[in-house]
Amino acid sequence: MKAEDEAVGPQKVSNSFRDRHSNVNEKGKRNWIYALRPKGKLYRYRQWLSAGYLLLFFALPFVKINGMPAVELNFPEARFILFGKIFWPDDFFIFAVAMVLAIVFVALFTVIYGRVFCGWVCPQTVFMEFVFRKIEWWIEGTPTQQRKLNAAPLSVQKIFKKTIKHLIFFVVSFLIAHTFLSYILGVNEVLALMRSPVSENIGLFAGLLFFTGLFYFVFAFVRDIVCTTVCPYGRLQGVLYDKDTMQVSYDYNRGEPRGKRSKKEQQALGDCIDCKLCVHVCPTGIDIRNGVQMECVGCTACIDACNDVMFRIGRPEGLIRMASENQISKKQPFHFNGRMKFYSFILVILVTLMSFLILSRKSIDTTISRVKGQLYQEVGKDSLSNLFQAKIINKTRQDVRFELKVEGPVPGQVRMIDATHNILKKESLSDRTFFIVMPASGIKARSTDIQIGVYTNGEKTATIKSKFLGPFI
Ligand code: SF4
Ligand code: SF4
Repeated sequence: MKAEDEAVGPQKVSNSFRDRHSNVNEKGKRNWIYALRPKGKLYRYRQWLSAGYLLLFFALPFVKINGMPAVELNFPEARFILFGKIFWPDDFFIFAVAMVLAIVFVALFTVIYGRVFCGWVCPQTVFMEFVFRKIEWWIEGTPTQQRKLNAAPLSVQKIFKKTIKHLIFFVVSFLIAHTFLSYILGVNEVLALMRSPVSENIGLFAGLLFFTGLFYFVFAFVRDIVCTTVCPYGRLQGVLYDKDTMQVSYDYNRGEPRGKRSKKEQQALGDCIDCKLCVHVCPTGIDIRNGVQMECVGCTACIDACNDVMFRIGRPEGLIRMASENQISKKQPFHFNGRMKFYSFILVILVTLMSFLILSRKSIDTTISRVKGQLYQEVGKDSLSNLFQAKIINKTRQDVRFELKVEGPVPGQVRMIDATHNILKKESLSDRTFFIVMPASGIKARSTDIQIGVYTNGEKTATIKSKFLGPFI
């Protein structure tokens, strides 16, 4: 540690620019972050958001819409349920579009708002800061007490606290792994799995243990390294940011020259009193006053900490705030510029398009076509018939009754070749062959456009257009 470095708060703070990653100390070893508990308006908002987020995460597998899970992502069986609608492999285009939209969305969002997603919504941050960190505070005390406990020799108290903490961490990780599995297999399957002997589901049980171990390892040991080193989204920042990107920024025009105030002498100092609270509160251990850094996850904890300091010394809030580089360097106030408006508009369009694709998707998918190579047939003296094929996919989890009706322009009849099969089995694909019989007097052209109504459980679900062939006239 250099002479000018300080350890006034729970973290060691270097006054010089660092030449290494924030996770690594000057000896090349892991720099364990002991972040102070944030306080302030933004942290309160984050708490509320995280509470809602966690409630949703743990409750969603139990929520059903029309008897179906609200969300089920069954990768092994390639079946996905969103908002109570089943998506099959033939809905792959929706997933492809969703993937493209998601990538464009993330890129545009980051260009405008920086890494706020990481600090406010990312599951890693939410679980780390609002579940595991809180458990740690509860058992091991404040960050300063934690630092002392870690440095202390082994004692009964230390063993007790560490054992309890890691036991609770493991149980919470176990819960998270089970909830994830509920999103994949459905909550009923997971409950049945929990009641059955381990020997009957060795593979699943091993998977559960693996993911429990992974979550435990991440939240107990890896922690901020996930955000600062492992996460590819964090690594993308460098190429997505520009000088108009909103990010957590220190206003050096206002803050510098920094320094502690002396009551005795008048000093020409900026607003930063060099209290280093913004560093002590940072979960990735960086000093935002050194400029934008890739380790900043945009959690805004330093904004809260500095606002509190500014309030106490009677200066306006916002020495650290959400601002773009241009706003800080050119001393401009925040304004929603044309580029941000345009990108936000594109984001709204993308979300609307995706919602439309999901909500407009049909639960019964029908395609009807005339059997190729077949012309018309005469039926009796006054009627003609054509042979058709239908492919009907029942994407629901119930058997449904279906019926086809000719709806114009000429009244006609549908004659199923196998009349007994008017039930579509749940989650199945059915091939049906049928004749459409029309009065010969109504067919006035070689090819006549017709409409066929598809009815399931008595309700019309689609109208399909096709052609009816007649004789040359
Ligand atoms: S919290 Fe504010 S005043 Fe204190 S060191 Fe950070 S920027 Fe300066
Ligand atoms: S610099 Fe501020 S916003 Fe960035 S991670 Fe640290 S506390 Fe959060």
